[in-house]
Amino acid sequence: MHYDAVVIGGGLSGLTAAALLAKRNLHVAVVDRNAHPGGSCGAFRRGEALIDQGAAMLFGFGQTGFNPHRFVFNVLEEPIDVIRHESMYTMEFAGERIEFTPDLDRFTEDLARVFPGERDTIKRFYADMGRLYHDVIAGTPSFTTPDEMDGRHMLPQIKAHPRSYLKFLRLMNKSVEDLIGHYFTDPRIHQFYDKLCSTYCYTTTAETPAVLGAVMFVDNHVGGTYYPAGSTLMLTGALEKVIEEHGGDMLMHCEAVEILFEDEKPCGVAIRKTGDAPEQQIRKRMGDDSPDHICADSVIYSGNVWDLYDKLLPSDRTTRKERAWAKRFVPTAASAVLYLVVKASAIPVDTPPVQMFAEHPEQLNDDEITAYIMSIDDPTLCPPDQHVLTVVGPCFDMVEGLDEQEYANLKRKIARRFLGILESRFPGICDATLHVEVATPRTLQQRAGKYRGAVAGPKQMMGQHMLKRQHTRTRFKGLVCCGESTVMGTGTPTVTISGIAAANALLRDRGLAPFIWEPDLPNYVRDVPRGWSKRANESELTQAARHCLLCEHPACNRTCPIFDVPGIMRRIYTGNLVGARKLAKQGIKTLESGDYVISPTVAVQLAADRIVAQTDPASTSANTNEPVSARMANGRLPSSTLAEVAAFERDCIQARSDQHGTPIAFVVSELLA
Ligand SMILES: Cc1cc2nc3c(=O)[nH]c(=O)nc-3n(C[C@H](O)[C@H](O)[C@H](O)COP(=O)(O)OP(=O)(O)OC[C@H]3O[C@@H](n4cnc5c(N)ncnc54)[C@H](O)[C@@H]3O)c2cc1C
Repeated sequence: MHYDAVVIGGGLSGLTAAALLAKRNLHVAVVDRNAHPGGSCGAFRRGEALIDQGAAMLFGFGQTGFNPHRFVFNVLEEPIDVIRHESMYTMEFAGERIEFTPDLDRFTEDLARVFPGERDTIKRFYADMGRLYHDVIAGTPSFTTPDEMDGRHMLPQIKAHPRSYLKFLRLMNKSVEDLIGHYFTDPRIHQFYDKLCSTYCYTTTAETPAVLGAVMFVDNHVGGTYYPAGSTLMLTGALEKVIEEHGGDMLMHCEAVEILFEDEKPCGVAIRKTGDAPEQQIRKRMGDDSPDHICADSVIYSGNVWDLYDKLLPSDRTTRKERAWAKRFVPTAASAVLYLVVKASAIPVDTPPVQMFAEHPEQLNDDEITAYIMSIDDPTLCPPDQHVLTVVGPCFDMVEGLDEQEYANLKRKIARRFLGILESRFPGICDATLHVEVATPRTLQQRAGKYRGAVAGPKQMMGQHMLKRQHTRTRFKGLVCCGESTVMGTGTPTVTISGIAAANALLRDRGLAPFIWEPDLPNYVRDVPRGWSKRANESELTQAARHCLLCEHPACNRTCPIFDVPGIMRRIYTGNLVGARKLAKQGIKTLESGDYVISPTVAVQLAADRIVAQTDPASTSANTNEPVSARMANGRLPSSTLAEVAAFERDCIQARSDQHGTPIAFVVSELLA
């Protein structure tokens, strides 16, 4: 299969780039080593609770302000429902609770309450930053990376606000410390901004570039914060839907191991299958570990800069200087994440959905955690008597070289530390905990591909900011980059911008129209009220999909590896029926062609599931690691194989989407009806 573009990485940035290209009718494939797309913006399930594994507080959906998420859904013409948080978050700062609200005046009043001596300066500071933000950033937004800025687009803005532009340019090589030093004298307010920078970017005010601070301090209020109704899966699921509806392919369990070149031009990627699906197990057992090739005119890389130069670009294509340059990037501090399901009674009513803790203003330490409790605003995430929490904080503990016991102890230590801080805010939460799970920096590296557990790629600090980061375009025509290594600022809005920039770079190269902001774009982002649920109108199929969504041990797939049932169910849940149907059809096609493998592994599994009672027992020891069609002699299958095949096909169609769930036959026939 030949593609116009192959995208390495199905996180938010890669999905955004792929969806935009697909919208312009380019044939795209997205490869990701994980079972599901989303990267660090996704969810997993424990019992009846859906838990965000990473991003949960989303800026950039605002009706006003800098709103790249809204822009993307508007140009894709793809509807999405979002819940706006009335109160954005609170920060526990040295015994004071500061409330961050979408209303900037209300917020500055609250800040002035904590720092009364700086009252007038606080007002002046936010008025100045607000002017810069509106004149330079939000008035006529340019959703692109610094290196892809189009001078022609900026010219009218510069002409309209020359003073603001000049001021903004003067901040370019200054730090937040320089910026706030210009305004404030109270050392405590300096500590407050230290904490603010640290909770946003894991940087001190001395490290954080002033341009980033100036935008961040205002932007977070103007647009407000949002949550995709039904979980963050709905955000990545909607992008996946656009890709598949436009003929693109989502290739999960595929790790890109090398970017391929023809002459000086990238021409695709070599991929290796990951995961433990029976097909992969058989290939591995047979010693077949050779990578497959995906051919494409262009390659978009959304992973980190370290892997790009160390692993993906062949060493004979890069210079020693380039490799050394990539290595020099300092990563963001490593993080740990605590996932909790608690009794609802542990969280007082009227608690804002995000809490930041910064109790020790004099130093940066691992007490600084942020707790997301999205079930407060989206009760569909768990049963009504529960809440789900995702709690993120820096982790300065060594994880390398620990044996199993030491590693388990570290996890316990992190859980105790986080729970101790939460207990001070929510007395009784420890006793009310129903489920607890810890992701260490090692988990984040293994599961989400986060380099050394750094949640935001290269640190957002002076010396590796703006044009000093990885650019969207590389020196290889046809290889463009997006993701955290390319962007200024942290989080989902910035990586979304990088995805837009990558797609636009390729569109321009092909002479196609890029996606550019214009006033009065039709709106596809629907603001729904807190507590909103569409469960009432759910079809039987969607109910079934909800029931077995993100099941991590799908018995159905062991019984019937031909249908990607978890993939089908996730797509039904996110409303991507085209993608679900495509997978169902692929399963039927394989079943009808007989081009599937019944290996001893599968037969043993079937026996273990007590489903193959009538299968010829000899078949479990026979060498059957070959497609069924290959075992035909004179157009006939041996009788033992026939029995095996008949049983297998019957079991496939009768398998249930989870142990007590819906028959696959029902799901497939509903989809194909
Ligand atoms: C714990 C945590 C909490 C966060 N909280 C917030 C928040 O509240 N708000 C916010 O805005 N942001 C938050 N963020 C940041 C935000 O989630 C990320 O910045 C954003 O999702 C990154 O998107 P991405 O596409 O650039 O990269 P990723 O999400 O890292 O996705 C990259 C994808 O590429 C795949 N990949 C990489 N290399 C390869 C390869 N060689 N072959 C195949 N696949 C590959 C990976 O498997 C991964 O799926 C948080 C992040 C974390 C980890």
